[in-house]
Amino acid sequence: MPTVLVKDADWAVVWENAAPESGPNLYGGRHAFLKGCDLAFADDRLVFVGPRYAGAADTVIDGRGKMILPGFVNIHSHPNSEPMLKGLSEERKSRQLNMSSLYEYIFLLGRPAHDVAADPDTAHFGIADFAAYSASCQVAIAEMLRSGVTCFVDYSANRPNWLDEVARTGIRTVVAPSFRSGEWYTENGHEVLYRWNEPRGRQGLDTAVALVMRAQQHPSGLLSGMMAPAQVDTCTADLMVDAAAVARDLSVPCQTHCAQSVVEMREMFRRYGTTSVGWLEALGVLGPHMILGHAMFLDHHSWIRGPDHRDLDRIADTGTSVAHCPNQFARGGMVLEHFGKYARRGVNLGLGTDTFPHNFVDEMRWALVVAKIASADVGSTSLAEIFTAATVGGAKALGRDDIGRLAAGCKADFSLVDLAHPAMQPARDPLKSLVFSALERPITDVYVAGKQVVRDGTVLTIDLEANLAELTAGQARNMRGIPERDWAKRSPDEAFPMSLGWAGSNR
Ligand SMILES: [Zn+2]
Repeated sequence: MPTVLVKDADWAVVWENAAPESGPNLYGGRHAFLKGCDLAFADDRLVFVGPRYAGAADTVIDGRGKMILPGFVNIHSHPNSEPMLKGLSEERKSRQLNMSSLYEYIFLLGRPAHDVAADPDTAHFGIADFAAYSASCQVAIAEMLRSGVTCFVDYSANRPNWLDEVARTGIRTVVAPSFRSGEWYTENGHEVLYRWNEPRGRQGLDTAVALVMRAQQHPSGLLSGMMAPAQVDTCTADLMVDAAAVARDLSVPCQTHCAQSVVEMREMFRRYGTTSVGWLEALGVLGPHMILGHAMFLDHHSWIRGPDHRDLDRIADTGTSVAHCPNQFARGGMVLEHFGKYARRGVNLGLGTDTFPHNFVDEMRWALVVAKIASADVGSTSLAEIFTAATVGGAKALGRDDIGRLAAGCKADFSLVDLAHPAMQPARDPLKSLVFSALERPITDVYVAGKQVVRDGTVLTIDLEANLAELTAGQARNMRGIPERDWAKRSPDEAFPMSLGWAGSNR
C-alpha cells in the first residue's frame, strides 16, 4: 500500500492519550500543539504522527510553513434546503414570542402550484425542487470542505440520488433522513399548529432504516447513517421510542431537535406537563446514542425559568450529546446558557452549522464568543473546549474515536493551514490566529480518508460555479411560491424585506 508523508510541518495539533491517573476525561486524552511534525498515511489511515518519520514513503508533501489540523466534525446541518434562505430569513422577526423565522418562514420556499402543474415530469414531487436541493447541498459541502470539515451530518428529507451525490464530493457523511408524525403550520402568524399524519411518520421511519442500511454498505466507504425523528414536538411518543429503539438495534446514533424554541417548550408543557428533555427522559430514549439538536431552552434558561432546573442533569447523567449551532440562533437573538456550564456538568458537546453559512471555523468563533457573552465570564469557555467540541466532541456523539484527532490508527482526515497567510500573522498561537482572525482563509488543503479534496483553497470534487448558478436559479424559482404558502399571502419582498430601502431611481 503506498505511503504518503507530510514532512516537516511547522506545527500540528496532535492527539495525546491521557495517563490513567489523570482522572476522568470524556475523550480519553487531549489535543496538544507539536512544533515540527511528520504525518504519514497509507490508504485511509494514519500510520504515523510525530516528530520524525523513519519509514519509507512513496509520496512526500512539503509541510514547511504549514500547520496540520485534524478534520472538523459537523454534527448538525441541513444543506439541501437552508442555503436557499440566504438573503431572506436572516433578520425576520415573528409575531410569536421570542422566536425568529422557524415556524413562520422556514417552509415558505417551494415551487408555486402553477409551475408544478406545468411540469408533468416532476409534478409528482409537488413543491419539492430536487434540482435546487441538490445544488444547495453541493454548495454547502464545498463551504464545509473549504473550512476544514471532513465529516458532517446531513439531516435532510429524503431525495433522489442522495447517497451517490454526497459520496462523490469525497466528504465523510452521516446520512440522517428525517421523518415525523406532524407538520407545523400557522394560520395567523402567532399560533403554531400541528397537522398530524402518523402513517406518514411510520413510512418515513421505514424509509430511513432502508437508507441508513444502504449508506452503511455504500461502496465509497464514506457513508454511514443515523436515525432522525425530526423534532420532539412533531413526533408522537410511539414514533420517538421506535426510532430510538431502531437506532440501538442498528448501532447508529439518533438525533432529534429538542428545546430549540420557547414555543416548543410551552407546547411540551401544555401537552405533557414537562420539558422537552423531561419528556424524552420519561420515554427512556436519552443515552449515549442520543444527540439533542440545540438543547438550548432547557429549564434553567433565563427565557424559560422552569421550576426545578433538572434538564442539564438529565442530559449529563444519561451521557446524551448536544449538537450546538450558535450562529443561526445568535442572529435571531437567542443563546445557549451557556457552553461552559454544559461542559462543566460533563455534557458532551459537538458543533453544527445548521442552516447557513457552513463555514465551520466561523461557527467555532460564534460558539466561543457567544459563550463568553452568555456567561458574562470571559473565562467560562476556552478555545480549547470549542476546538474539542469541533473535533472529538462531535466524533464521540457519532460513536467514533477514529476521527477528529491526529494519531496513528485514526482515519487520514486532516487539513493544512498556511501559516504565512497575512491573516495568520503573527502566528505565535496559530489556533488563536485561525479562529479569532483568519477563519477559513488560510486552510489550503484538505484530505478525507487519505484522498485530497481541497487543493490550494479549491474544492476539487465539486463544480462550484455550476452549482451556485443552479442554487441562485432555484432560489428565484422557489421564491415564486411564497405568496401562496404564506398565511398572510405576502409577496417575497413583504415577507422578507431587503436590508436597505431602494434608491429613488429603483423604486
Ligand atoms: Zn436543525
